Order: sequence, then C-alpha cells, then structure tokens
Amino acid sequence: MTASSTNNKFTIGILGSGQLGRMLSIASAQLGLCTHIFAPDAKNSPAGEVAHNTTTAAYEDKRAIASFAANVDVVTSEFENVPATVMDLLSDYCPVSPGHLALHTAQHRIREKTLAREVGISTPKFWPITNSSELKSAMQEHGHSGILKKCTLGYDGKGQVRIKPGDNFDTAFKSLGTTDAILEESVNFAAEASFLVARNAKGDISHFPGTLNKHINGILAQSTAPAPLHEDIIAEGRNAVEKLAEALELFGLLALEAFVTQEGKLLFNEIAPRPHNSFHWTIEGCETSQFTQLARLLSGMPYGATNTYGKWQMNNLLGEDMESLPEILLSSGIHVHIYGKTDAKTGRKMGHTNHNINK
Ligand code: AMP
Repeated sequence: MTASSTNNKFTIGILGSGQLGRMLSIASAQLGLCTHIFAPDAKNSPAGEVAHNTTTAAYEDKRAIASFAANVDVVTSEFENVPATVMDLLSDYCPVSPGHLALHTAQHRIREKTLAREVGISTPKFWPITNSSELKSAMQEHGHSGILKKCTLGYDGKGQVRIKPGDNFDTAFKSLGTTDAILEESVNFAAEASFLVARNAKGDISHFPGTLNKHINGILAQSTAPAPLHEDIIAEGRNAVEKLAEALELFGLLALEAFVTQEGKLLFNEIAPRPHNSFHWTIEGCETSQFTQLARLLSGMPYGATNTYGKWQMNNLLGEDMESLPEILLSSGIHVHIYGKTDAKTGRKMGHTNHNINK
C-alpha cells in the first residue's frame, strides 16, 4: 500500500456518484482509507457527501481526469458504462479496476454472452439485431416470445421490450432507439440467482455466498442469501463466475446474474464488474462485506473472510416505498441503509434494508 495523494493517505478514486460509491466510501473510511469521487454531479451526491474529496467534471474532461489521477492511488468505477477511453487514460497513471477487458466486455450484451459461451457457460438463445427485418427473421426462426434489448446502457429493466409472434416488429425495433440490439429467448425460469467474486492484483479469488433474487418490473426487489438452491447449482454458479473473472483478467469484483431453469440448469444472464445490488446483504450478513472486500483489494490489503451469519434478506427501498420508512425504522432487527437521494421518484433506488431471517 502506497500513498501518492496530497493528504498522504491511501486514496481510492471512484468514478460515479451513486449509492455504490457511497457504500464503498463508508467501508473504505472504516479501514482508514480515503475516497475521492469524480463525477459530473459529484458534490452533493450520495457518494460525494460521504467521501473525503470530490471532483465535479465531465468524464471527457481530460485535464480534470489527469489531475484526479495525480491525487489518487487507484481508480475504480461504480458503474460499467463509464467510457472505456476514460479508464484507459487513467491506467497511464495508476491501477484501474475493473480493467479494460472486463469493462469492454460487460458493457455489451453480445460480447458478454459470447465470452460466457467461449468459457463453457450456457446462455439463453440469442440473435444480434441491427434492423427490423433481422428481428422478423429471428422471431420466425425462434417461434416463441422473446425479449428485445439494447446491447449497451440498459439497466433496471430499461432499454428492453417483450415481444411475441404476431407483434409489429417494426414498431418494437424502433421503440428501442438503437441499431445495436439483441433478441433473447424468453426464459421460463424457476429462479434467478447471482454469484460474486473478488479477484486481486495477484489473481487470488475470494467468493461470496450465492444469492437468490426476485425482480419486479425488471428491478431487483429482494435478495435472499445464502441462496436456498441445490448445491450443484451453487457450485456451478461459483465455478462460472470464477471462470469469467479469470478470462477477463479481472482486478476488482465480478457479479454474475443467472437464471435457474425449470430443469435445474444454470443460464448466464449478465455480468457486472463492480459491487452488485444483490450483495448489499453482505454489509451486515457477511464477515466482510462486498464493499470492504473491494476496498481491501484495491488498497493491497489481504482479503477478509466471507462467512455468513445465518440467513439474510435484503429488500430494496424504491421511491414509492419511502412512505413506509417511519414504520420500518420502528422494527427491531432491520438494518436500514438510505442513500441520501433527494428526489424519491417511482422505481428509483433510494435505499435498502437487511435483516437476518433466522430470527
Ligand atoms: P436484465 O437487465 O437483462 O438483467 O433484465 C432484468 C430482468 O428482466 C431480469 O433479472 C429478469 O427478471 C428479466 N429478464 C431479462 N432477460 C430475460 C430473459 N431472456 N428471459 C426471461 N426474463 C428475463
């Protein structure tokens, strides 16, 4: 661990100003590390208000990026859609997490599924789609319902439309507003699960317990861990996320979201090279949380253990759930995390709760 920043303390630079940067900043402070948030709206943001330093500038502002880089020891991004060129520029100054290959792959739905298949992980059937006639022929070949998604920049179920034979394919394609799309078969899954690993600069891996997830309207609503799934599925998920992290030469965290089919088969959905919403339960539920593990690996500290303390459930608090906050705050055994966002819009992630479900 070195310290090149002006205050002589090891400083983690974070691109992005949301709740993941906030929780990473809190975990870092607990380890005596500093964080510095770089974002177009850094100052009074969820992350900026708990970090040691902020830079408010556009990601494309090369001068601001260079001066930020000179004041931090390592850089990570709390979202995968940061332009890869920004991370490349930063990598001239200091180590960057997740690294070019992981970021480039995770930014695109076809690239990530192609990698999954290359390393032997099954995916739902998919077709690259660049115009409505390709959509029409893919739907004819498929013959069932599917989901048409933007290849880039989709999140929380945004940038995707469900589509069935007989629909107007032209209208569906145009509604996406892009020519870089993917059609996926609609999986009639029995469950959704996620798996998380940390991989440090030496290539050592640390696993977190697999998690069972429930989405409502494409947004994660609830996670339960350790996932009550067959041990073979858990082993397959752990193996899959580790293989992906190796193939991506990852430095940081990698989450894998997967479907468990009715036949008990694991299918790749997507990856995220950063802390993941479905592992927020680790803050109270694991000996070392995902945020603490990331702060440790970024600063060259050894991993902490990831033992769980019983069974945990995480529930997201969206804008529309905030009315029940006074009631939640009165319940014992519920750990409340609020992200400090001012505008409680419907569907916006405002916070989450964790509670032990053994009790
Ligand atoms: P995504 O942004 O791709 O993770 O999609 C958000 C959620 O939509 C997933 O967690 C699933 O609940 C659902 N979903 C996405 N893709 C599919 C699919 N191919 N089949 C069935 N459900 C899906």
